[in-house]
Amino acid sequence: VSRAHQKAALIAHGGAGAAGPAAERPERQRVMLAAVRAGAAILKNGGRALDAVIATVSVLENHPLFNAGYGSVLNSAGQVEMDASVMEVNPGAPPRAGGVAALSRIRNPIKLARAVMEHSPHLLLVGAGAERFARSAGISLCRPEMMISPRARERRWIGGAKAKRGYGTVGAVAVDAHGSMAAATSTGGMSGKLPGRVEDSAIIGAGTFAGPLGAASATGHGEAIILAGLCREAVDSLVKLSAPQAARNAIAGISQTAGAEAGIILVDRRGRIGYAHNAAMEVATFDPAHGLCHLRSPATGPARQP
Ligand code: ASP
Repeated sequence: VSRAHQKAALIAHGGAGAAGPAAERPERQRVMLAAVRAGAAILKNGGRALDAVIATVSVLENHPLFNAGYGSVLNSAGQVEMDASVMEVNPGAPPRAGGVAALSRIRNPIKLARAVMEHSPHLLLVGAGAERFARSAGISLCRPEMMISPRARERRWIGGAKAKRGYGTVGAVAVDAHGSMAAATSTGGMSGKLPGRVEDSAIIGAGTFAGPLGAASATGHGEAIILAGLCREAVDSLVKLSAPQAARNAIAGISQTAGAEAGIILVDRRGRIGYAHNAAMEVATFDPAHGLCHLRSPATGPARQP
């Protein structure tokens, strides 16, 4: 793609799973659009895909209706433990990435993931060590109770066979006018999970991936997504598939092999968007031709596409 023809685009998801209470949908839609608008404003001004996905995910992390940041579901001990990761590819440069897991004291885990990428020699930091690193990177810590929303407390479901999966996870992927691509994902994980569980959302290649062909962010059953290396598989398949096909193919694969609930969003280097899921999933998109769009599709068929 010649740089002159590079099209900027962004897509965000609000998590796959149960559709959530109908009464909350208008507000979720409003926030999804506000989040994508924040990212789109950066892209429209010639800004970086990395800044756009971090801005988008931060808006979603700050809202209690999304299972990430403030609003994260509780684990079996009644605590919030958050994970996030980010990856960026700039033309002609090696890809870079950062991830964080098991955080209880960070308001915006995605910003800490970015700091790990930019200011540490490492790729993945967890727990107390990650929180100590946050301080040195100028990111302040809060008391763990500050991250527990009243809604999360009300909706607490403890493990066991009948446990209802808390739904959420947020993510965004973008390509900018310079041909850089980025993916960012942030989550509170599954409600009732064991303390210390690491989500796919922290794992590069699983919940988040960006490569020379595109960028992807996933949501759904974390263990299955890690086993499948879902986002890396989907991005690599862009060598022969369009973005919508790559998304559909990835979800068809994980449905078949693991019977797992999952969703994925993708962007390729020409700014074409794809998404698919086998559970309810909400997405919002921006591209220059269509502006901002919000789409919600229910858990009907196996995998869906735009
Ligand atoms: N992927 C997240 C997890 O496994 C949850 C989700 O996406 O809804 O914890």
